[in-house]
Amino acid sequence: MTIPKKIQQQANQLRATLNEHSYFYYVLDDPKIPDSEYDRLMRELQALEAQYPELITPDSPTQRVGATPLPNFAEVIHSQPMLSLSNAFEEGEVHDFDKRLRERLGVAEAEIEYAAELKLDGLAVSLRYEQGLLVTAATRGDGNRGEEVTGNVKTIKTVPLKLRGKDFPPVLEVRGEAFMPKAWFDKLNQQQVGRGEKPFANPRNAAAGSLRQLDAHATAARPLDFICYAVGQVEGRELPNRHSDILNQLQRWGFPISKYSQVVMGPQGCLTYYQQILTQRDQLPFEIDGIVYKVNSLVQQEQLGFVSRAPRWAIAHKFPAQEALTQVEGIDVQVGRTGALTPVARLAPVNVGGVTITNATLHNQEEIHRKDIRVGDTVIVRRAGDVIPEVVRVLLEKRPPRTKLFQVPTQCPVCGSQVLRPEGEAVARCTGGLGCPAQRKQAIQHFASRRAMNIEGLGEKLVEQLIDGNVVANLADLYILTTKQWAELERMGEKSAANIISALNKSKSTTLERFLYALGIREVGESTARVLAQHFGSLEPLMRATEEELQTVPDVGPIVAKHIFAFFQQPHNLDVIQRLQEEAKIHWTESQPTSPKALPNALPLAGQTYVLTGSLSSMTRDEAKEKLQALGAKVSGSVSKKTSCVIVGEEAGSKLDKARELGIKMIDEQEFLELVK
Ligand code: NAD
Repeated sequence: MTIPKKIQQQANQLRATLNEHSYFYYVLDDPKIPDSEYDRLMRELQALEAQYPELITPDSPTQRVGATPLPNFAEVIHSQPMLSLSNAFEEGEVHDFDKRLRERLGVAEAEIEYAAELKLDGLAVSLRYEQGLLVTAATRGDGNRGEEVTGNVKTIKTVPLKLRGKDFPPVLEVRGEAFMPKAWFDKLNQQQVGRGEKPFANPRNAAAGSLRQLDAHATAARPLDFICYAVGQVEGRELPNRHSDILNQLQRWGFPISKYSQVVMGPQGCLTYYQQILTQRDQLPFEIDGIVYKVNSLVQQEQLGFVSRAPRWAIAHKFPAQEALTQVEGIDVQVGRTGALTPVARLAPVNVGGVTITNATLHNQEEIHRKDIRVGDTVIVRRAGDVIPEVVRVLLEKRPPRTKLFQVPTQCPVCGSQVLRPEGEAVARCTGGLGCPAQRKQAIQHFASRRAMNIEGLGEKLVEQLIDGNVVANLADLYILTTKQWAELERMGEKSAANIISALNKSKSTTLERFLYALGIREVGESTARVLAQHFGSLEPLMRATEEELQTVPDVGPIVAKHIFAFFQQPHNLDVIQRLQEEAKIHWTESQPTSPKALPNALPLAGQTYVLTGSLSSMTRDEAKEKLQALGAKVSGSVSKKTSCVIVGEEAGSKLDKARELGIKMIDEQEFLELVK
């Protein structure tokens, strides 16, 4: 078949692009495009080669593994090639793979047993042991020739330098993945940025960069972990004839293996495992980019053999990509509840891991400068788990001419007020306060939110109408609207109006801590609201408190104190609070303050810390806690030198031992009851 010139050119172009990116990825550990883009180009080339097999050349990226080793390292010739894996992206491809294997094995009707394993996203390493001692460690390189990295691998604490037991083969090559756990990766990248160096694109590149250092000290400074998943050359002893049994045997000789591996039956078993791991993916301490299914029987593996760059008996079922390429169509600025201006990139819609993404936060001016993100740029966006999508990097080579640096505006895009960025702060803020409609909307939404006043049904769209239509000016106005006024709003009717009114009425009976949180004072989250409520017991003393007094509250530092103090100095805020209490009749049960300062006469246990251990027969722990707190004591969960007294109930545990050790005063239930009587 003659190949059309256009097709030939297209294939050449794809090969050149793929080779270029392989070089950046494998040799420099510094990829320029996301893996999903590389995989897409690879699939395009594979499709052309499948249609026109004459196109296939031995040096095509579809036929090769990795890249030529760097000349800086000594070369290791692998006694058995280190191959790559074929890929599956869809469930159907897993079924096709299984069907192909059953046909080749002549077991069309039977189910194949598979070993299902995590596909760790690091780099493959081969470890050679002679007489039980690690003699060489090598990277995969181009599959036949790798780089010698023995000194570096020896810095990985989980790699055994000497095997356990006595029955290991005199020559044993073990293969596995060297990888950088997520936590270490984050730390490394923070250090890189702190030193003004470029952060690594992902843990895989960081791991490869760490292992391929000429100085082992540099590897030790960027710690790696290792998990093994295969053997290479083995001499002098037979190994079990199931892959999973070999791994268990390796573990007995001292190798770390994955605790997540499972033996499953047929494609359905594989797919169930895939789904199960997919849901755990974000919680795993390391990155994985899919699952590997391997025929578990070594006899069947041998029957199936290899194609040019991968075994026939295994396949990598990739997880949805977490990164993709797209364009920045514009940069909008959003104004938050506290006036913070957040630039947001408007993106050409792109599918990342099954979800269409149309915008990504750019955080602040500094972040935009650091990443140099401009309208018109082609960027890599990332979306992992529940994390909000972010722009990882710009592809500078794709930047169109005449782009401009983005500047956060000096006037609020919503209300036109001046925008200020206090020295040393990354965030620029609109100074319009509650005069700014954007801030007012957010303030109402926050006030109504579940953990604040919990006003069911008062969502974003409704709040927008209330502010844009000038129906309410502030929080207190919410409670004076009539059913008719609610019903006149868009998408509302008599029934929804009645529901909102009833939700508002319900919200009137609340707690001081919820009310404080709902007010939206800067830096006062739920836990600060809780300690403030406990400390002051009622609103008035808190409103009157000076910054110094506020700072005596646990967890309240000078900045938080400043914000609280400033909030209660604003006549507008005082007016809204008064109306909420007097007109809307928002109320809560006042409690005794836990702070001696907030009370005219200090409580008997003020300033003391109590710890409860074991169970009490006359009341629950929570009841006991409340009683102690009402007397002014602080109740802590653990015993320390600062503990004043430990109340010892039935079956007391380690806290009792600790109290004895530290010589802390202890009382039993009877004494406790006397105390609180
Ligand atoms: P691969 O990484 O997809 O699969 C083979 C590798 O998987 C093995 O070498 C081994 O290191 C690893 N692996 C992890 N867990 C394993 C397990 N349990 N059992 C067996 N092996 C396991 O293949 P590859 O050929 O090394 O690389 C292709 C990948 O590299 C693709 O994801 C591609 O997108 C990416 N890549 C990206 C760029 C880029 O520019 N972004 C360039 C080149 C390659």
